[in-house]
Amino acid sequence: MPIYEYRCGSCGFEKEHLQKVSDAPVAACPACGGNVYTKLISAAGFQLKGSGWYATDFKNGAQPKPKPDAEAPAAKSETPASTAPAASAACPACTSD
Ligand SMILES: [Zn+2]
Repeated sequence: MPIYEYRCGSCGFEKEHLQKVSDAPVAACPACGGNVYTKLISAAGFQLKGSGWYATDFKNGAQPKPKPDAEAPAAKSETPASTAPAASAACPACTSD
């Protein structure tokens, strides 16, 4: 539940109000009852005050990654398998007349 800081434009009274986001803003100054009690936009109730929780994100590590060398070398020429000589159809020992 966020905390809203209010300030009275009439008497200068300031107070933080814990409110639901859906709650209507506090309309009247609790100190003087004036109706210039306004929410201070800059007052954040989310603990975002202070420094450094996001400041370092872009200081380092923002360099683009080097592309991996995607270029493949030239297609390998496959050495053809040693072709065995075709078996001779006729057996020299069997071809005698
Ligand atoms: Zn006031």
